[in-house]
Amino acid sequence: MRGAAVKSGSRTKIFGSRLFAIASVVAVAATFLGHTAIAAGEERLLAYGARIVGDDARTRIVIDFDRPPTFSIHYIANPERVVVDLPATAFGFPAKDLEARGLFKDIRYGTMDEDSARIVLTATRPVRIGMAKVQVDEGGKGQRLVLEAEMTDKATFDELVKAHSWNEPASAQTTSAIPSPEKPGSGDFVVAVDAGHGGIDTGAIGVDTKTQEKDVTLAFAKTLADRLNREPGIKAFLTRSDDSFLSLSQRVEIARQNHAALFVSLHADTLRQKDIRGATVYTISDKASDKLAADLADRENLSDQIAGKTTTTEPPEVADILLDLTRRETQAFSISMAESVLSSFKDQVGTINNPHRHAGFRVLQAPDVPSILLELGFLSNKDDEKLLLDDGWRTKMGELLTEAVKHYHASMVANGG
Ligand SMILES: [Zn+2]
Repeated sequence: MRGAAVKSGSRTKIFGSRLFAIASVVAVAATFLGHTAIAAGEERLLAYGARIVGDDARTRIVIDFDRPPTFSIHYIANPERVVVDLPATAFGFPAKDLEARGLFKDIRYGTMDEDSARIVLTATRPVRIGMAKVQVDEGGKGQRLVLEAEMTDKATFDELVKAHSWNEPASAQTTSAIPSPEKPGSGDFVVAVDAGHGGIDTGAIGVDTKTQEKDVTLAFAKTLADRLNREPGIKAFLTRSDDSFLSLSQRVEIARQNHAALFVSLHADTLRQKDIRGATVYTISDKASDKLAADLADRENLSDQIAGKTTTTEPPEVADILLDLTRRETQAFSISMAESVLSSFKDQVGTINNPHRHAGFRVLQAPDVPSILLELGFLSNKDDEKLLLDDGWRTKMGELLTEAVKHYHASMVANGG
């Protein structure tokens, strides 16, 4: 039952996109092929529209049907694929409307046999369908199948392959049982520690020792996570634990999937002004606090392009007042975390002038996870570079940041947050 029998999207293109074109093809086929074809033609669902949006962390597929489809979802490994089995369906939308993007590098669909059709989504990495449902169109004219794919880890994907094989009694179903990611232990305060850059994206390079930022951030992220994990009630995890590339939205998604209550992205960039040194804490904002913050955010946001990812801006979701409120609340929490960090750095760690700044960092965009970006120091400054490579300094920084996290957490609890 491989996808080999499935016709590629471009094949269906010859049938044209418009409803009447499909209707006439069916009618012509019926005339030539006689009775059975008429019956099949009448029963076939018509998929008359399709859309795909999203990025390499989350991708949504919507297919419009003339009647509610039954469907079932299966997973196949090597390469990672998601298979959507449908009743007999005529695919009548232009192939370009369902061109692979985001988490998927190839999408094929077509007839399997008289009674069934199939969509095969080949993924760029392990994925899971977090949500799959059929809903009535706003206008009440059609029914749409909505599939929300999200990145996951290899182990979860392997579980899905096992749980959703064709060996299970696979009666047609309208929803599929999808396991949720595991929740952390009750009451733990979960912190995502994000080592900036990685893999093909080296980040900044040190002036003196040619140290790469991606190594500095990873070494410190490990120190910090270890230190945080020694605190009862705090559970820290790394978004990356080796020299691998993660896109900015993947970092955000990993934090959300692991139910992080706080996201700390670590960096050590370079500046043209080599005399500037010290730590800086950034929070997100539409408008940058100053030129230095704006330039830095621009450079950080380039990370995806360095790795050859095309970043596309999606049209904003339908204005959602609840999401807006969440965002505003999250921003207030992020600012309070930034202040907590700076008060624990006071007289202990050198900071630049106005050490709390803000700008449009894409890695800080989770609407529901308070997030800060910490520039530990600057690799463009010889003295900072020395510190960044010093074990003792790292330990001390880990200590102070742990104090800051504890202080922030305590104030959240006190305020009922
Ligand atoms: Zn950086």
